[in-house]
Amino acid sequence: MTDLDAALAPELARLEALRLRRRLQPMDAVDGASLRAAEAALLSFSSNDYLGLARDDRLQAALCAGAARDGVGSGAAHLLGGHRGVHQALEEALAAFAGREAALLFGNGYLANLGMIGALAGRGDTIFADRLNHASLVDAALLSRARLLRYRHADLQHLEDLLKTAPARGRRLIVTDGVFSMDGDVAPLVALTELARRHRAWLVVDDAHGLGVLGPDGRGSVAAAGLDEAAVPVLMGTLGKAFGVYGAFVAGSRILVDTLLQRARTYIYTTALPPALAHATLTALDCVRGEPWRRERLREHVHALRAGLAGLPWTLLPSDTPIQPLLVGGADAAVTLSEALRARGIYVPAVRPPTVPQGTARLRITLSAAHTATDVERLVRALRELASG
Ligand code: PMP
Repeated sequence: MTDLDAALAPELARLEALRLRRRLQPMDAVDGASLRAAEAALLSFSSNDYLGLARDDRLQAALCAGAARDGVGSGAAHLLGGHRGVHQALEEALAAFAGREAALLFGNGYLANLGMIGALAGRGDTIFADRLNHASLVDAALLSRARLLRYRHADLQHLEDLLKTAPARGRRLIVTDGVFSMDGDVAPLVALTELARRHRAWLVVDDAHGLGVLGPDGRGSVAAAGLDEAAVPVLMGTLGKAFGVYGAFVAGSRILVDTLLQRARTYIYTTALPPALAHATLTALDCVRGEPWRRERLREHVHALRAGLAGLPWTLLPSDTPIQPLLVGGADAAVTLSEALRARGIYVPAVRPPTVPQGTARLRITLSAAHTATDVERLVRALRELASG
């Protein structure tokens, strides 16, 4: 053991004792609803491939044809020759889909948030953030050096108090997930836009889990709430979840996007997204828009799951999105329940602190259009059996 190992090992041992140690496991994804682990094929409720597009033949064909045409890697940053026609076409298509003037592609959602927040806020500015926002938004705020004020989850009164008492000088950003990634609930967007308007703030929405899933044509939580660019001037979306590919974008006015092009460090100082992925994403966008049956099927699964799990000793958090968290409480109990499901051939990961607050460890059940009604019934039956015995 090196000196470094000796210094690091006690922390791992401590996490192990608390059943909080994270472990990687290789899994072959068969599709959004099933995985193959070393021991067996598993029915999976762990994927963010909400529409079941990640293994779609048309996306795979577009990826291969795109690679043949434009190469696998882009070879350079966007501003240094890495920006291909297909990136441009995808940005324009995403902007139109989001109902915005323009959009800018980022390597992934984490990078998009770091770059976008850092470009919009700095020293002397204030960021008002929901306490349950995704980690990338927290990190983005910290890295930006703006003052970070976190309001209790979806607590509009708390947010308003902070907006009133925080210094009025500088820029003010209200930042929220559209759909909260660990709870599955939708942000109170209409009320947030109202507070932003009254208190001179800009609303920034990270719609990683709403895009493709909610709203007309899958245009996300903001469109579902009937809000436009004036109300939500900054919209972030990811391409690795409902779109089934990889990457992210920020959409807004042309001036916003041009500002990001000058200032977003995670856009400027990094290799452009592989063009083959941009080709696949254009195909994914056609599927997202043109195949509403996928969203319909998802809604049916959500209703069936919630009806099936009513009355169990564990609480299903209120959510009508494909993220359906089953609150267990202790980390130990959550892991035990996850393992018991796994012994029955069903994979639902336990999510523990620090990803979620202490005492709220849960099974994060995610549904996909790749599931069948029978898959959902199987999960319900297994959980009911485990509850009764
Ligand atoms: N924002 C939210 C709300 C997310 O849930 C995630 C992914 N878990 C991200 C951003 C990061 O996106 P990506 O996986 O594309 O980096």
